[in-house]
Amino acid sequence: MKTYFHEGLRLYLGEGVDWNSYFTLRKGTAADVPGERAALVEILETAAQICEGLEPELRGGWSESARLENGEVVYPGHIEKAYRTLAEAGLVSFGVEEKYGGFGLPTVVTNMVLQMIARADAGLMTVIGLQAGVADDLQLYASEELKDRYLPRFASGELMGAMDLTEPAAGSDLGGITTRATEVDGRIRLDGSKIFITNGGAEIHLVLARDAEHFDASKGTTRGLSLFLCPRTLPDGRRNGVRVVRLEDKLGIHGSPTAAIEFEDAEAYLVGVKGEGFKAMLTLMNNARLGVAAQGIGISEAAVHAAVGYARERKQFGAPILEQPLMKNILARMVLALEGSRALLYRTCVLVDRNRSIRAYLEGEAVSADERERYEAIHERNEVRIRLLTPLAKYLATESCDEITRHAIQVHGGLGYMAESEVGKLHNDAIITTIYEGTSEIQVSFALREIGKGALSIVFDEVRRELETMKDEPLASYAERVRDGIERVLEASPALMSDARYALLSAQSLAEVVISVIVAAELLKQAQLDPSRLDHAASWIERRMVDLDARTKRIRAGTVDLLDRCERMIALTGA
Ligand SMILES: Cc1cc2nc3c(=O)[nH]c(=O)nc-3n(C[C@H](O)[C@H](O)[C@H](O)COP(=O)(O)OP(=O)(O)OC[C@H]3O[C@@H](n4cnc5c(N)ncnc54)[C@H](O)[C@@H]3O)c2cc1C
Repeated sequence: MKTYFHEGLRLYLGEGVDWNSYFTLRKGTAADVPGERAALVEILETAAQICEGLEPELRGGWSESARLENGEVVYPGHIEKAYRTLAEAGLVSFGVEEKYGGFGLPTVVTNMVLQMIARADAGLMTVIGLQAGVADDLQLYASEELKDRYLPRFASGELMGAMDLTEPAAGSDLGGITTRATEVDGRIRLDGSKIFITNGGAEIHLVLARDAEHFDASKGTTRGLSLFLCPRTLPDGRRNGVRVVRLEDKLGIHGSPTAAIEFEDAEAYLVGVKGEGFKAMLTLMNNARLGVAAQGIGISEAAVHAAVGYARERKQFGAPILEQPLMKNILARMVLALEGSRALLYRTCVLVDRNRSIRAYLEGEAVSADERERYEAIHERNEVRIRLLTPLAKYLATESCDEITRHAIQVHGGLGYMAESEVGKLHNDAIITTIYEGTSEIQVSFALREIGKGALSIVFDEVRRELETMKDEPLASYAERVRDGIERVLEASPALMSDARYALLSAQSLAEVVISVIVAAELLKQAQLDPSRLDHAASWIERRMVDLDARTKRIRAGTVDLLDRCERMIALTGA
């Protein structure tokens, strides 16, 4: 992992994606696939070079926060400069299509870039990740007029975007939203308050608000919510009724401003279908979840790099601490958690790209009825897999990041606990990844819901197919152990489906065991391509299959009565 564009990324880019199919479905059989691939590599090389170059200044400015001056959000100088540098290279709104002046990058490449930015500075990545997500949602749902007006300015980096969902009473449960959207004579006005809004001073706000006509009837639900674009400056140059009232002081990601916002008679434009804002927002949130997983991976890379470097240098008992078996074990576990997270994220991104290319193909005119039916069926199955894998990828990468950065502090001993320690800062940045874009608890609950709808059989069919291709030793034996793991998960899951409350109590355990087998297969696939990566797969399988065994036994043996035990123990604290 010497540079930002290291072998872990190159392997995926080279062998992990069927680029031929991706580009020919999107651009037709005349697509210059080698040329397109070379362009992607060049973009990643540029991103890596820029991010590596920016790293020292960004780390140096870690403690500096954005300020609110006369109602304007002022970004710290190092963030402003880094944003401009990336914007000049076209690296701030990656998914914006070429016709609006962007690169239209595949999701897997977008997330590699986001990971590099996060490795340099997690706060900067939050600023840019939100920016890219807002542009993607406009591209997907906004009218042609709004797209023409705003997307080229997103692609150039001139405009910044914010996503305004959270309110004091609406956090994980967006059904609590009370920001009101009133339509009078065809014009929409927003009134209400939002909190914790990243890039709160941005020119463009994508706001989830409740339609006034159905306000009381829909209150407390996600029905009746619509998505609106609310600019700070109206097309005729007047100032709109959007105001930053406060910036928060946080534990980490200081370079990213987090604002409380007020909307007062603010003019806004509908994005997508009225009353279906929550659905549109879910698309944005799912993309953003992959982005936050990439952020976790970037921070984890920085932490692993720092910890291995320190363990090589620091001598105790007459030798570098890296020579201590316990230290080797901690560092190897950090590497494994990182590579497992990466495997799951890229696997998910590849599926998202596959479906994106299928949609582009189906939009074309020259598709026969048979072809349409075939591709629609593939698209449908992929969607089921994406809906399960996305929350799992976010959960794994961010919880691993929290753990990896904590271990990095441990490797640094007392130095790691000093206020100025690099790994301490990385840990402070890591924590938020498990909270925003849906907490870890929400991610495993989402995964459980998809499993309840039958996603496991489709996801496991694919895993089994992949394992079938591993006929030679030592892969064949490892593949057999993973197949056995799949059977255990399938035997345990019905115990959950009998009682919704017991299922929710066990949602994290279920997520862990499902992750264990999917990541195992993905790491084995990597070992098929590059035998030097067999240790990752072998270590993952040996560690995680023991854990899977214990968890599935516990799931099968437990009942909803365990909830009563939890309640009794909490009551005993007297709190
Ligand atoms: C730095 C930062 C930046 C942010 N940026 C944005 C932004 O740009 N736009 C935006 O709209 N929001 C943003 N947020 C808000 C963020 O998405 C929310 O904080 C997050 O979704 C959690 O909501 P909450 O804080 O209200 O916690 P709550 O929903 O009150 O949750 C508190 C705890 O209860 C748990 N919990 C809640 N419901 C359940 C359940 N059903 N099952 C199990 N456990 C549950 C949670 O997991 C959590 O542990 C940001 C937040 C921060 C801190």
